[in-house]
Amino acid sequence: KVTVPKPREQRIITIANQKGGVGKTTTAVNLAAALAHQGMKVLVIDLDPQGNASTALGIEHHSGVPSSYELLIGEVSVKDAIQQSPHNERLLCIPATIDLAGAEIELVSMVAREGRLKGAIQEANIAGYDIDYVMIDCPPSLGLLTVNALVAAKEVLIPIQCEYYALEGVGQLLRNIGLVQAHLNPELHVSTVILTMYDGRTKLADQVAEEVRGHFGDVVLRSVIPRSVKVSEAPGYGMTVLDYDPGSRGAMSYLDAGREMAQRAMARQAANGAE
Ligand code: ADP
Ligand code: MG
Repeated sequence: KVTVPKPREQRIITIANQKGGVGKTTTAVNLAAALAHQGMKVLVIDLDPQGNASTALGIEHHSGVPSSYELLIGEVSVKDAIQQSPHNERLLCIPATIDLAGAEIELVSMVAREGRLKGAIQEANIAGYDIDYVMIDCPPSLGLLTVNALVAAKEVLIPIQCEYYALEGVGQLLRNIGLVQAHLNPELHVSTVILTMYDGRTKLADQVAEEVRGHFGDVVLRSVIPRSVKVSEAPGYGMTVLDYDPGSRGAMSYLDAGREMAQRAMARQAANGAE
């Protein structure tokens, strides 16, 4: 059952923040699952050699499985690398294997090294697939893997952890996004900022939330992701929190965030159409 508005065009969203442990992967898989639970078809591309997104989605990703690595070096096509989540038929994943660890260096000498992922996606005509959202999970760096993700996407989603130094490094991230936009991908923009690991009992969480909203304005989702044990336990079972504990606060918050993202895009389209 479709309970959120379907985007008019497929949305390709890169989840980036070069800081580790801010909730990139958790957000990529749970937001993807939340949208799938609300009727969308979603593909997660795992671009982190750690393969945490693949693990959390219950996707096989031992070395040798067709993965984002083979896709980047041009050995397989999108179609050959896509797997379906065992828990949700509308949730798909191109996994990352440990082989991706070498890609950052291998890519350096390759032709069109920044545009490998975009090329693979275009070659497969992924826009023609029945897929509403593509979410790309990035490693915690601003190297060539992240650049490939930024070139392939139209939107950037930045997760920000409600902790000390929340905005540390964000300036550098925005400068890099600006460089990619100026030289490689003019359509790229930060469409969404999401506050993660929010602990309502602390004053700090509210201070960080206020600071981030002051800095980014209304691209920050109203839905905030609480710190929740269920969210952190789920990947251990190869599940998203939506399947592990659908009634939990963590699951609810990702459902809300997904709905908000879908509705905002509709509102933006309506506004553009009216111009
Ligand atoms: P990143 O991909 O940015 O490195 P992760 O998504 O892997 O970050 O999250 C870092 C750690 O924080 C993981 O152990 C994850 O389980 C935990 N975590 C993320 N979001 C939450 C949350 N909302 N509540 C509790 N733990 C979380
Ligand atoms: Mg990660």
